[in-house]
Amino acid sequence: MAVSRLTVLAGPTAVGKGTVSADVRARYPQVWLSVSATTRPPRPGEVDGVHYYFVDGAAFDAMAARGELLEWAVVHGRNRYGTPRGPVLEQLAAGRPALLEIDLAGARQVRAAMPDARFVFLAPPSWEELERRLVGRGTEDAEERARRLATARIELAAESEFDHVIVNDEVHRATDELIEVMGLTRR
Ligand code: 5GP
Repeated sequence: MAVSRLTVLAGPTAVGKGTVSADVRARYPQVWLSVSATTRPPRPGEVDGVHYYFVDGAAFDAMAARGELLEWAVVHGRNRYGTPRGPVLEQLAAGRPALLEIDLAGARQVRAAMPDARFVFLAPPSWEELERRLVGRGTEDAEERARRLATARIELAAESEFDHVIVNDEVHRATDELIEVMGLTRR
């Protein structure tokens, strides 16, 4: 089987990257979604090894120092997040379409390391809608929301670096577009 192509999905906080990638997975179970390592503590309901590998700072640094991360970044000026390299390469070699859901700095590193990957930016319909989704999700306090919106302004300005921009106006529609961009077909 031919080596698959990697798809990187980036976009600002609360734009719905998680929802869209979960929708892709639900409809196309053959898609492999990378599980990142993070120094952020788990939120209620998050499971180690499923949503993230939750590690402390020393463990994260050790992974980075051993070259085990395809990319990593400090996100929202706080915690470190990184993509374990081994599983990505294994899945691609096995011919499985792989999807990474990461921030802008991470996407730039993947672009440098794997220029053949496909880079997709998920954009909000408007700035107001992005703010509304962040408040509506209710998982961050006011200070953290402000921090995330500051990052979002920077990320939105980088939209043109991406191969495709998908506006997440409606999840199912945005997913349809991502599925098409990834060249997925039902089996
Ligand atoms: P959260 O803390 O809400 O789960 O994630 C915050 C942000 O971290 C997300 O918007 C996501 O793009 C980014 N992120 C998650 N995993 C990774 C990763 O492995 N690498 C990078 N660079 N960013 C990540």
